[in-house]
Amino acid sequence: MQEVDVPMMKPLLKHLVEITAHREHSRLAVAVISALYQLAHVSQVRALEIFTLRDELFVQEKILIKEGSITTIADHTHDDPKEPLKSYPGIVECMQQHKHEHPEVRSDGTHVLWLPVWLHGKINTCLEVCNQGPFDAGAREVIDGIFRVYCNYQSLLDYSERDALTGLFNRKTFDEQFSKHAFAIAPHESHSLDQHHERRHSGDIKAHWLAVVDIDHFKQVNDQYGHLYGDEVLILMANILRASFRSHDRIFRFGGEEFVILLRATTLADTRKIFDRFRQNVQEYDFPQVGKVTVSLGFVGISQETPVVILGHADQALYHAKKNGRNRICFYEELVTSGVLSSEISTNDIVEFF
Ligand code: GH3
Ligand code: MG
Ligand code: MG
Repeated sequence: MQEVDVPMMKPLLKHLVEITAHREHSRLAVAVISALYQLAHVSQVRALEIFTLRDELFVQEKILIKEGSITTIADHTHDDPKEPLKSYPGIVECMQQHKHEHPEVRSDGTHVLWLPVWLHGKINTCLEVCNQGPFDAGAREVIDGIFRVYCNYQSLLDYSERDALTGLFNRKTFDEQFSKHAFAIAPHESHSLDQHHERRHSGDIKAHWLAVVDIDHFKQVNDQYGHLYGDEVLILMANILRASFRSHDRIFRFGGEEFVILLRATTLADTRKIFDRFRQNVQEYDFPQVGKVTVSLGFVGISQETPVVILGHADQALYHAKKNGRNRICFYEELVTSGVLSSEISTNDIVEFF
């Protein structure tokens, strides 16, 4: 039996263990970038995120490793520095030619390898590996191998985060993402908000919002047309949801015919418009065979309350919408202010509901 070269294998094994230890995208990327940097001995590696904002594509640096130190921009907002996609011709080339890698030599002699992570026919992340001179054959092999492990693992991770029928994020992902600090607090406001209810969600103040959506009379769709058509309505509903919200908002399939939307940094007036436009998009859509379907929606401003309380409030607004004719959107705080809902009773209801 040939002897195993343990000293050579050790660093690789250490990095593979580290890469597969994470179920959170940014920590996974940090592990991958560290592995590329240390195992391929290159001079710099960056992870770049590509996202859409007002129908335009932008690129934002998420992680950078050079000169032995690593910089991460963990929970950035899309207000952070970003550049238009056209400033990155290497990524544009990958997108247009559907490439899985693209080499480039810069005028200063730096050799660059662009490595896009393709998922569902799109690139959301691209790695940029830089070296002062050309990559030697060994380095290329190490880079290719680590990058393939990254892509495979990303695809498994993505699979576990999504609902199989609609492709939307599942409830488990909601629980993980919503408990994250970044979404749990309204932007620019970290103090207790209870006494500012009125002021907080009025005027131009931007906040984060949570909506619960439920399809109206969905049981009838199943009863009348069968489960397959019911499933088709759910798939089409997911498409309408994706088309109605921005890429940095988050959409989840929460349960059977219930969805949750997290809306980032918007004023109350815009939030109403956005949610009502979605409601209208559904109302106007012709579902094959089934015809017209409507939704009811309850929403709430995200405060420092616990996720259970916030969800409970949105749910109360939803049930109010259901009781008052369906095919409408209701705002929790407005219902409390106008005396239609009592916040005292709501706390008891939440206990019962959950
Ligand atoms: P309401 O307007 O009050 O919401 O009435 P509804 O009929 O939509 O409400 P209800 O909660 O009574 O019914 C929800 C139905 O959703 C019951 C169940 O058969 C159906 N459902 C849940 N998950 C799925 C699924 O994955 N596929 C299909 N086809 N139907 C589902
Ligand atoms: Mg329901
Ligand atoms: Mg329903």
